[in-house]
Amino acid sequence: MSKFLVVGAGISGATVANILSNDDKNEITVIDRLDHIAGNCFDYRDDNNIMIHKYGSHIFHTSDKEVWTFLRQFTGFNTYMHRVVAVIEGNELPLPFNFNTIRMAFPQILAERIERKLLEKFQYGTKIPIRDFMEQDDEDLRFLAQYIYENVFLHYTEKQWGKSPDQIDGAVTARVPVYLSRDDRYFQNTYQGIPLEGYTSMIQRMLNCPNIKVQLNKEFKEVDLKGYDFIFYTGPIDELMDYRLGQLPYRSVHFELETYDREHYQSGAAVNYPNNYEFTRIHEYKYYLNDKSDKTVIAKEYSEDFVPGKNDRYYPVPGEENTELYNRYLALAQEKYPNMRFLGRLGDYRYYDMDKAVRRALDVVKEFC
Ligand SMILES: Cc1cc2nc3c(=O)[nH]c(=O)nc-3n(C[C@H](O)[C@H](O)[C@H](O)COP(=O)(O)OP(=O)(O)OC[C@H]3O[C@@H](n4cnc5c(N)ncnc54)[C@H](O)[C@@H]3O)c2cc1C
Repeated sequence: MSKFLVVGAGISGATVANILSNDDKNEITVIDRLDHIAGNCFDYRDDNNIMIHKYGSHIFHTSDKEVWTFLRQFTGFNTYMHRVVAVIEGNELPLPFNFNTIRMAFPQILAERIERKLLEKFQYGTKIPIRDFMEQDDEDLRFLAQYIYENVFLHYTEKQWGKSPDQIDGAVTARVPVYLSRDDRYFQNTYQGIPLEGYTSMIQRMLNCPNIKVQLNKEFKEVDLKGYDFIFYTGPIDELMDYRLGQLPYRSVHFELETYDREHYQSGAAVNYPNNYEFTRIHEYKYYLNDKSDKTVIAKEYSEDFVPGKNDRYYPVPGEENTELYNRYLALAQEKYPNMRFLGRLGDYRYYDMDKAVRRALDVVKEFC
């Protein structure tokens, strides 16, 4: 028999705990400092019967069949496919910028010329980062790149990261693609959707096993580690090591919720505002599960720096220096806790979509199966 401690009841911790529970000789304790399970994926139905994603909109999408099959043991998914529009010069244009966007943004004669030139240089169906267009010697393609840079990328990025684009890691800039396609969906993965009864319910079922014990409002540092054979840690590694090398930087986000007495507030679940207002985007939650209510709830999303004690960690800040700091923390933590494994968006200090967090958890726990 082995006794395991899993720190964090988010999707990473719940995946590890569930897999370990397949061996009924294992005893698994899952702790979380919050008063709820599901971590960042936490959702709940409000008084208007609308499912609210407390930490921001979560859309499940993956092409990893093993991850999809694993999660479908605990929930069905609807067939929601995410679409995002950005308000640019007063019009709602589909993102990422694609052939439909080009037709909507520019006069027909220019749009057709750009489309033809794009297809002469690149293959239909590919995603080309805007940086590649800026390097073209064709005037129309440079115009396209400049238009997207100014209207979609520049101000949005400044708001999101609180920095000018030249201070931002290239990996972030490269994320802004032009999609040479008429496909308006935000994701192209094989499997997409929202859990029919929400993420919290899905994670509840993952943890609902006779040999898993869940303790909420429980801090790792309050746990007596004697008696545990192995520990899986999905919390922030710098905090675990008392910030002795300094703080790993994160961007944070806060959401301002508003309720309206009408069926819908906007045209879809996500509308970005790259150039207007202080918020980056507005989410309208009832679209995800097609909730029936005569009211609607929206969330305006504001980005800000993470400050311990003031707000939550959301996005690790990409950059070599930060990766190096993380690696130094990992080495220290492994020395202090040789029977501990690190994973999850905080334990690994990496942005993971949910499917990638599950994939990572499945890979880490393999060693113990
Ligand atoms: C704004 C935003 C939007 C997102 N949208 C999407 C999306 O649309 N689609 C998608 O696939 N992914 C999305 N993600 C990513 C998704 O949130 C992550 O993949 C997922 O939450 C990772 O889960 P996790 O278990 O690794 O971390 P978490 O959910 O953060 O879980 C870690 C848990 O550990 C607990 N913990 C930490 N330290 C301690 C401690 N010392 N003691 C006890 N407990 C502790 C925390 O309270 C937390 O509950 C989004 C992320 C953000 C920030």
